[in-house]
Amino acid sequence: MAAITMNHIVKRYGDGFPAVNDVSLDIADGEFMILVGPSGCGKSTLLRMIVGLEDITSGDMLIGGQRVNEKSPRERNLSMVFQNYALYPHLSVFENIAFPLRLAGTSDAEVKKRVQDAADVLELREHLERKPANLSGGQRQRVAMGRAIVRQADAFLFDEPLSNLDAKLRGQMRTEIARLQRRLGVTTVYVTHDQTEAMTLGDRVAVLRKGVLQQVASPRELYEQPVNLFVAGFIGSPPMNFLPATVQGAALRTPFGDLHLDDRRAKAVAGHDLVIVGLRPGHFEDASLVEEDKRRHGSVFRAMVDVTEWLGDQQYAYIPFEAPAEITAQLRDLSRELDSDQMRTQAIVEIDAMSRLREGREAEFWVDTRKAHVFDPKTGTNLT
Ligand code: ATP
Repeated sequence: MAAITMNHIVKRYGDGFPAVNDVSLDIADGEFMILVGPSGCGKSTLLRMIVGLEDITSGDMLIGGQRVNEKSPRERNLSMVFQNYALYPHLSVFENIAFPLRLAGTSDAEVKKRVQDAADVLELREHLERKPANLSGGQRQRVAMGRAIVRQADAFLFDEPLSNLDAKLRGQMRTEIARLQRRLGVTTVYVTHDQTEAMTLGDRVAVLRKGVLQQVASPRELYEQPVNLFVAGFIGSPPMNFLPATVQGAALRTPFGDLHLDDRRAKAVAGHDLVIVGLRPGHFEDASLVEEDKRRHGSVFRAMVDVTEWLGDQQYAYIPFEAPAEITAQLRDLSRELDSDQMRTQAIVEIDAMSRLREGREAEFWVDTRKAHVFDPKTGTNLT
């Protein structure tokens, strides 16, 4: 096992914009680190530089304290699981798992023991004689993982290993990977663009945007204390609502009326005229269902309900708003990047399934202002 340290890593393909731009990241021995971000943010490139499949333009890559920039993939002793599994169709499951051991010239007796141990961990024992074509997607995925764990590598690297599976199987494999990683305790770096995987699998998550590291934190910290608009909009589903607001002392004037800030937040926005308020869908409630003493901790506003979605144990309401041009431009870029058009034109609020809101009618909502994030619209920085 080994820690992985990146110091000011840069990757340029040709003379264009760097695909990875000055990334410094410490991954502790035994840690499960997720690299996440939208398509093209550089996460696969970063992973390929760790494993040695891509040259590093500048910066230092250390594995177990040793600089590995010039070392070949084989010398780094890491195991990588690819998106397409890369199984050999003509070989049995046993031989697919055994492959790296055969390459290393391991004795037959040792190969047998190690493959069987891996097959036990992954519940593949009864499939060892089959060919990959006769396995389900989930079983193939486990064979690919078997090949990774049989080698006793210093770290596991995963590049979107679940993206070819259907939603149900993805859920199952996610839990299996988490369990396996905990059991083996091996340093793991896992690339995904799926924020559910990012939030459920890792000890910590590194969020990348355009090659630049935005924030490295535990899933909870990312959700509760995103450092900027980008992280706030990327983490959480449905996404955080962003409302334009003007600062009026300790109140924020938003399209949904005035939000009253607590002292800490009021101090943080002092000196700003225009800001963006971030409110998660779950921080709203149907005001008619909120008790009096709780109301004091938030603000109540009236708004038109455009569409409602009832999901059994919860309900979403979509409420349109209009924003001034300065803010719309900033939110337009962000929503394009995050693939979320609703970000600048409507808010999504999560309300009790019992609530009797009607589409096309006005309703009263309560919002918990103790949870509000306030962002600088120019830099995107979270001021709170
Ligand atoms: P995805 O989720 O779509 O795989 P990613 O976050 O993994 O995206 P990378 O594949 O690391 O992103 O790519 C980062 C940037 O580098 C992109 O702009 C991509 O077009 C560019 N890039 C990647 N590989 C090469 C290459 N071999 N030559 C030139 N540019 C490349």
